[in-house]
Amino acid sequence: MNEVNLKVPAEADNTNPRLEVTLGDITVEQVDVIVNAANSSLLGGGGVDGAIHRAAGPELLECCRTLDGCNTGDAKITPGFQLAAEWVIHTVGPIWHGGTRGEPQLLESCYRSSLARADEVGAESVAFPAISTGVYGYPVQPATAIAIGTVQSAPTRVEIVRFVCFNRETLDAYRTFLG
Ligand code: ADP
Repeated sequence: MNEVNLKVPAEADNTNPRLEVTLGDITVEQVDVIVNAANSSLLGGGGVDGAIHRAAGPELLECCRTLDGCNTGDAKITPGFQLAAEWVIHTVGPIWHGGTRGEPQLLESCYRSSLARADEVGAESVAFPAISTGVYGYPVQPATAIAIGTVQSAPTRVEIVRFVCFNRETLDAYRTFLG
């Protein structure tokens, strides 16, 4: 093959990530990045956020204090400290108000922004929780459709995306959507 032909624009070698689904605790995932469903203060909370802070240790909160919060739909990155994962990406999902306040677009933005942060550090594997489907009340079925649809179509160099489900209902939804 002519070597000149190998020089292609950066975006051109993007392929869609391989998608995996598992039941369990995201804090023990052996991936480059775990994603946190945080609140906009980034100063810790319940659910997956609390679990990640407990597992990463107090340095994570100290680091998050320097980030000046995060808007809904955006994502910010920190080291993983005591986690197996090298990085934590903190994204803020929308609170469900019935679906008429831009919730689908904001949830999609969480997945896109998280993958963009992951690309910035060259991550190859990323684990996501089911963002917004806990305390924030986003119904599991439409949230799952957005999670899978967005990751399948987002421009990213991430090779493996693992959806970590914390309960059966969520696992079943992901399995159904992925066929
Ligand atoms: P949100 O405020 O975005 O709804 P939650 O943490 O309340 O965030 O819930 C998001 C999802 O994370 C829910 O499906 C919840 O069951 C799940 N979850 C809670 N703890 C963990 C954990 N340790 N690992 C993976 N998922 C978790």
